[in-house]
Amino acid sequence: MPYVRRQFAAVTAALAMSVTSGAVVSPAFADPRVIDKTATATGYGGAVSTVDPEASAAAIEVLREGGNAADAAVAAAATLGVTEPYSAGIGGGGYFVFYDAKTGEVSTIDGRETAPAAMPRDAFIDPSTITPEKPAGSPYSFAALVSSGVSVGVPGTPATWERALERWGTLSLGEALEPAIEVADRGFVVDETFRQQTLDNAVRFSAFTSTSSLFLPGGDAPAVGSVFRNDDLAQTYGLLAKEGTQGFYGGPLAAEIAATVQAPPKDPTWTPPVSQPPFPPLPVPPGYMTTADLAAYRALDQAPTHVEYRGLDVYGMAPSSSGGTTVGEALNILEPFNLSEMRNPDGTNPEALHHYLEASALAFADRAKYVGDPAFVDVPTAALTDPVFGKERACQLNPTVAALKPVPAGNVASYDGACPAAAAALTDEKDTENISTTNLTVADKWGNVVEYTLTIEQTGGSGIVVPDRGFLLNNELTDFSTVYDPTDPNRLEPGKRPRSSMSPTIILKEGEPFLALGSPGGSTIITTVLQTILNRVDLGMSIPAALAAPRAAQRNTVNVTAEPEFITAYGDQLAPYGHKLVPAGDAFTSAAEIGAATAIEFGPGKRMVAAAEPARRGGGSAMVVRPSP
Ligand code: GLU
Repeated sequence: MPYVRRQFAAVTAALAMSVTSGAVVSPAFADPRVIDKTATATGYGGAVSTVDPEASAAAIEVLREGGNAADAAVAAAATLGVTEPYSAGIGGGGYFVFYDAKTGEVSTIDGRETAPAAMPRDAFIDPSTITPEKPAGSPYSFAALVSSGVSVGVPGTPATWERALERWGTLSLGEALEPAIEVADRGFVVDETFRQQTLDNAVRFSAFTSTSSLFLPGGDAPAVGSVFRNDDLAQTYGLLAKEGTQGFYGGPLAAEIAATVQAPPKDPTWTPPVSQPPFPPLPVPPGYMTTADLAAYRALDQAPTHVEYRGLDVYGMAPSSSGGTTVGEALNILEPFNLSEMRNPDGTNPEALHHYLEASALAFADRAKYVGDPAFVDVPTAALTDPVFGKERACQLNPTVAALKPVPAGNVASYDGACPAAAAALTDEKDTENISTTNLTVADKWGNVVEYTLTIEQTGGSGIVVPDRGFLLNNELTDFSTVYDPTDPNRLEPGKRPRSSMSPTIILKEGEPFLALGSPGGSTIITTVLQTILNRVDLGMSIPAALAAPRAAQRNTVNVTAEPEFITAYGDQLAPYGHKLVPAGDAFTSAAEIGAATAIEFGPGKRMVAAAEPARRGGGSAMVVRPSP
């Protein structure tokens, strides 16, 4: 029996006697495998943090059996595709960052989805809005675009797994998929988060026959405590195990993916519910993806971004993600300020938080102006991560007053660290990115580290399951600007990767891993990673406390988005600076949370502290190979 599979075989055999068919079984027949969930784990020999105990258990099993961090990360990611199917899976994309203990180098893989080659620049414009008075027309509503074929990008996740294993792994793709196949086969216990996410998406899921039959069996979201199986996904993973990614990017599955994007399987009896604002008719236009797009997809090897902060080396994801440049620039802006000394006698630190919010706004201004897919746009990555540029941008940070937002971008073409005259504020722009996605952190006993963020964009992606294949397609192309503007680096173009905010980050101290972290959360990914680094490095919190602390996100908008706990704790203290805090949350989610981070801190010695969320998204799961106090 190959490698990992035997770990799970007994459980599967027991389950096979009680479950014969159907996606959901009653608790009475449930698999007894309920894994304890803890948010912090300390010890040796390898560690993992994810949002889900099945995924963390998969990684730990691989590590225990002698696999390395890359193997375990793929195993965990594939398992998340089963247990967190609304956040990530083979229908989406992501960014994989690897610290190689042998060479001491950090490398990355860009597995971002791409726009199909035949996708026109005006694909998001509703033709019915084009009139002689307004020949450019208007885009479809965002709510309509999220559940459409036109927003589906060519998936990058299978290629990312294959490339990561090729470069750094010891397992074949098939071996790394075994734990996930096992979980898809025998099922997992539905928790509150899974049920709630299903309910949040129930209306649009019910518009697609393939999606309602998988995720709304009997017309309802699976009950908490029931066991959810995904035989179709087990089969699809089995196909990948047998044929490699050729079985995904070519052959019948590729043809089915393209056909699904071009003609989403809409339920002919579906009608939009009466709601205010009106629920859009679904699906909005079909997409342009062909089998040639799938065959042409490549995950790209990429150099990481790098900045130094307080003597630490911070490595992040270069464009097409804006994560590395934006986190890096904000750190460079903050470097001249001594945040750790900005503490009131009562232990509060509104001044440090003010600096965090302002630095973030400045970095977001440059993100908007300069960052897009470097294959299409000349992205000034070196300038954006240059400490001299950061120092110059820091001139715009008034230590006692919040700037009017949005603040203008800096000038990457000419800077010398001296303070330029302040430019006028711009008009406010709405940030339309949603909160979804998942993140994982893995380390092995050799000292290799993986930080990996993967997504299908919106929670529930496009809402479209490839019929009988068990996975949702992404709606990542909604990360492009919806209206074509030739000056916008994130304008939609065929073959291009939409700008991401994913920020998987690995921080070294004197050449050794110190901290690895990342988060989901759309553009709040950047602020969550930044705030967590500041909490840990400047404000002296332990890594579990840094993760648990309430969050706020200033993305160069008039208001600061914040968790209710943040508003309660700091609202009054930040008001005198001029910060306006509004609760996080949007029309698509029922939670007012920001992010769902994971992290591992290293040292002293070979000790590892794996940290997951204690509460957000129902709490995450941290594990180590050999626990120790
Ligand atoms: N599409 C987002 C990005 O790439 C991630 C999705 C999310 O976390 O909401 O930045």
